[in-house]
Amino acid sequence: MSGRRVVLSESELPTRWYNLQADLPEPLPPVLHPGTMQPVTPADLEPIFASELIRQEMSPERWIEIPDAIREVLAMWRPTPLVRARNLERALQTPARIYFKDESHSPPGSHKTNTAVAQAYFNQAQGVRRLTTETGAGQWGTALSFACKQFGLECKVFMVKVSYEQKPYRRSMMHMWGGQVTPSPSKETESGRQILAADPDTPGSLGIAISEAVEAAVQRDDTRYTLGSVLNHVMLHQTVIGLETERQLREFGDFPDVMIGCCGGGSNFAGLTFPFIPYKLKGRDIRFVAVEPCSCPTMSRGQFRYDFGDTTKLTPLIKMYTLGHSFVPPGIHAGGLRYHGMAPLVSLAVKLGLVEPMAFHQLECFEAAQLFAATEGIIPAPETSHAIRGAMVEAQRCRDEGREACIVFNLSGHGLCDLGAYDRYFRGELEDYEYPQEHIEAALAELPDLDEVRTA
Ligand SMILES: *Cc1c(COP(=O)(O)O)cnc(C)c1O
Repeated sequence: MSGRRVVLSESELPTRWYNLQADLPEPLPPVLHPGTMQPVTPADLEPIFASELIRQEMSPERWIEIPDAIREVLAMWRPTPLVRARNLERALQTPARIYFKDESHSPPGSHKTNTAVAQAYFNQAQGVRRLTTETGAGQWGTALSFACKQFGLECKVFMVKVSYEQKPYRRSMMHMWGGQVTPSPSKETESGRQILAADPDTPGSLGIAISEAVEAAVQRDDTRYTLGSVLNHVMLHQTVIGLETERQLREFGDFPDVMIGCCGGGSNFAGLTFPFIPYKLKGRDIRFVAVEPCSCPTMSRGQFRYDFGDTTKLTPLIKMYTLGHSFVPPGIHAGGLRYHGMAPLVSLAVKLGLVEPMAFHQLECFEAAQLFAATEGIIPAPETSHAIRGAMVEAQRCRDEGREACIVFNLSGHGLCDLGAYDRYFRGELEDYEYPQEHIEAALAELPDLDEVRTA
């Protein structure tokens, strides 16, 4: 029988995270304070984030040690398998070798647990008792609820209202792990009350929920805020994915030509690909493909400039690809891909030409998910289906051109809580949606013009 999966032993769980900041040819532009528009200092961030996470956020060190307490929790499901998708290859009649890293194995069902565990640990270690956060589709809230439970912390989750209504099982999972869940916008915060006053029927958005969660964190001394994507320390924690993949590919006797991930805030893509970027910087020919939905085309149609991380402009300004902080995405089913911005590290890598964006419509992604479930057996999250579509497009190109290639994608999570979306797909109720250019331009026109000054 030819090799199908490589499963590493527990002792091969990585002992250090890889920090891309050490190797990028250009430094990240500074993050700016929303009041003064000057670079933020660690002291500015102390009321919001755990100190060690702030240190990691700004760290230039290439390797950062993973504390044993974190590795012990990760070992509940890591290392995750790397699987050769032989049935999918056969169905596509492609000479390409397709591999996927299966991050659906974590108890909450996605890669997000990797950083949730690290963030809960560093907060608990400095005496924080309670964490707040926002969640879109519910994956991050579930991951954080699970992680807080492991370290005895309280967890308060603001869940985007439309998802709160559409995804009851994610809500139940959060409750199971002790998380407190509030639909956002809520009346519990000033930001929520403001938004509700302007538009009582708003479906909510990640940007609004972030405003609420940050506000709820700074109100109390024993509370900090956590973010499931976008920030540098989140990208860092996710690199266990790529570091394991590198070893597993070596056991297969292979090395990637193309690596693919879906992108919401960029973290599962970064986790898979960042440990391989040094090879490209040294001249090796690898492509890194970041896939996003046509309905939220941050990298393909947004601009690389300073913007706020949230809707009500409470967060610092970050230089990133953005559709504008006032972007309210259409209710597509890949809820986890509906953020207006993109991780600054992924954004800079795109700007430098190291990473190429690609956008797909939701229907072609659901179709890819169905073929993947039929051939490889796993029902993927709608977010993940974008990466699968990307891998299929690359594999079909190999077939048409009659060439081999090693294609690796990240299976960021399973779709067992998203079956309602698949039902609607089968009933023919889902439509493709192209985000209108005039909406993008209107949202971008609201951004402060800081780029001339800062990037000169
Ligand atoms: C949240 C989520 C994503 C998107 O977030 P990233 O930070 O871009 O990884 C992708 N897939 C799944 C399963 C998710 O839960």
